[in-house]
Amino acid sequence: MAETKRANSGTMKKPKLGQNFLADVGAAEEIVQALGDISDSVVLEIGPGKGALTQVLARRAKRLIAVELDRMMATELRYKYRLQPHVEIIEADVLKLDFRTVLNRTIGPLNDLRPLKPARVHVVGNLPYYITSDILLRLFEFHDQFDVIVIMVQREVADRIAASPGTRDYGLLSATAQLYTKVEKLFTLPPDAFSPPPKVHSTVLRMTVAPRFAELAIKPQEFIGFLKTAFAMKRKTLLNNLKKDYREETIRDTLKQAGIRVDIRAESLPLETSAEVFRRLEKN
Ligand code: SAM
Repeated sequence: MAETKRANSGTMKKPKLGQNFLADVGAAEEIVQALGDISDSVVLEIGPGKGALTQVLARRAKRLIAVELDRMMATELRYKYRLQPHVEIIEADVLKLDFRTVLNRTIGPLNDLRPLKPARVHVVGNLPYYITSDILLRLFEFHDQFDVIVIMVQREVADRIAASPGTRDYGLLSATAQLYTKVEKLFTLPPDAFSPPPKVHSTVLRMTVAPRFAELAIKPQEFIGFLKTAFAMKRKTLLNNLKKDYREETIRDTLKQAGIRVDIRAESLPLETSAEVFRRLEKN
């Protein structure tokens, strides 16, 4: 294919940092629309790049904070928006950013010490695909700061995040995402919507933050640890995966009490059932 030939010929630079820029203006509008009314909101953009989404966001959001790792791109954007104090460009690695500190700072001249009304933030980004899961885990860690997350990710990853229990794509990423958010798949774009085109299709997801910890009666960190063990080896049964952390007899008793077959795999279990197994195992 053309892409492979060009990449192999060495005449074209391989995109670094997942830099495939959105070239479809209509899609940029649609992604921002998916955030809802942002006229009174703080928006955090991850990886603004050349600013396809930034341009639309800057017109609509009350305040925009965009985090870009590429120094040249961050500098260019900062220059472009230098006269718009509601737009702040931060040159940083999104995986290392302390969102709480960044989002709760005041803006404007240094002598403007009026405290910001604490606002929950809308997150948006055409993500660098090589770190999608890491970014999501980081956003979940700070979930109390966010209302809604609209992201573009590789189509196959979107399928996994949105998958229902019992389907082939359901796994640790689906369970974790659905523990913190309500996930909706919005639309898919072909490679030629980007420059340079990636090798994959891309899907836009809206994730409305709605943690289920109280309803499931679990502590998130402990439960996520349990899910990691339960999903550790996809081909193994739940029983075999859990043997790493619990005695076999205890697991067998627990599954029996919960009315679950011993040969079940973690991907068949809805979150309610996984949470029930976890709670019983902790008691037994
Ligand atoms: N939003 C732009 C668009 O839609 O055209 C660019 C999207 S591009 C897929 C991903 C962007 O994320 C690039 O600009 C890249 O430099 C930036 N990026 C990559 N790794 C990053 C990181 N760890 N922290 C912040 N930005 C990062």
